[in-house]
Amino acid sequence: METIQGSCAAVPASPPDDDPTTPTAQQPSAKRQSAAGRLLLGTDANQRLRVSRALTSMLVFVVCIGLAEYAVQFRMASLAATRLLQAGVGVWMIIVYAALRSGWNLRLADPSMTLPQILGAEAWVTVSYLMFAPVRGALLMLLSLTLVFGIFNLDARGRRICNSFALGAIGLGMAIMATLHPNSYPPHIELIHFVLVATILPVVSMLGAQLGNIRQRLRRQRNELELALERIQELATRDDLTGLYNRRYMQERLTQQISQVERSGGRFSLGLADLDHFKRINDTHGHGIGDQVLRQFADIAQICLRESDTLARWGGEEFLVLLPDTGPDQAALSMERLRAAVADLCTLREVRGLTVTISAGVTEYRPGETAEQAVERADQALYRAKAEGRNRIVTD
Ligand code: GH3
Ligand code: MG
Ligand code: MG
Repeated sequence: METIQGSCAAVPASPPDDDPTTPTAQQPSAKRQSAAGRLLLGTDANQRLRVSRALTSMLVFVVCIGLAEYAVQFRMASLAATRLLQAGVGVWMIIVYAALRSGWNLRLADPSMTLPQILGAEAWVTVSYLMFAPVRGALLMLLSLTLVFGIFNLDARGRRICNSFALGAIGLGMAIMATLHPNSYPPHIELIHFVLVATILPVVSMLGAQLGNIRQRLRRQRNELELALERIQELATRDDLTGLYNRRYMQERLTQQISQVERSGGRFSLGLADLDHFKRINDTHGHGIGDQVLRQFADIAQICLRESDTLARWGGEEFLVLLPDTGPDQAALSMERLRAAVADLCTLREVRGLTVTISAGVTEYRPGETAEQAVERADQALYRAKAEGRNRIVTD
């Protein structure tokens, strides 16, 4: 049987692992991406987000490489050491970009490579701090910045690693420089710098953790909303008792089928089936048994009909079948197969000797008419089937 096709398909696909607030659907579509953008970032929305985020952070390093060039002219550091630093940062950026752009990162547990990117950046900031003594205070700012870039993606362990690494590396560097070059790195200034770093980094980390929690909550709520939407669709389109589609769904399906026929031609037929003397079953065996019979009919009908047919509970003990691409003769054969199966198989353990039969009217949709007109014709055919003795199929 046909499966539900509803607005669930319109629910945005899961967003990138590293940003639950940015649905993938908000990424530019492949058509809207410029050729240069595609070349630089790729086409996959998740990967584009990762590459563009890495490139944004690299922008800071590109500026730093330029500033190092400027600083070396004022003899803040030796030319050879500056070139080495620039080359190191350049190679590191190329490696990170290549890993993301080639898709190598997808093999990792965290495809965003947050931890290695932060640790790398912290290492380069530390080296710069130790090289450019006069401007080292300003460089400390970059340590917090590196954390801000990826902190939301890190768990508590990742945040601890980043903080410990930054504090350990810069603290050790400060101690060494304060001992070896006390003129450029006066111990009391280094102490102030260290205390500031040791205070600021955990605070940034804590804020990151709080934002990370909000992010988790948003992700959870989005998943819950998706599930709720699926459930609402289920409730809105299904009949409680039989699990079949309900009348509202069938009406939408009919409208859709009619516009398809009007647009691209084709045909379809309707079969309206009604349980014979159902009131008598209720009266004799009780409403509960009547309900069981309805459920059993639904099970049998779902097995008998084709995948492409749509079966719905149209009313109390009336069921409407939409048979796409089917003429009246073929539709009558399908309904006859259903009638015979119900007469043979519809038996309940609770009630020996219970016989259940159905009658059905069949008609083909006529182009230009409304769904109601076609159903009305099927109903008239059904009425004739009843009048002619029940347990039979009548074609309009
Ligand atoms: P006919 O062969 O002419 O169709 O006779 P009938 O007795 O089946 O037709 P009628 O329309 O008189 O009776 C239909 C009965 O179906 C009446 C109603 O109580 C019962 N019915 C409708 N919905 C349900 C339901 O959900 N559960 C049960 N058990 N009975 C239902
Ligand atoms: Mg009936
Ligand atoms: Mg009826």
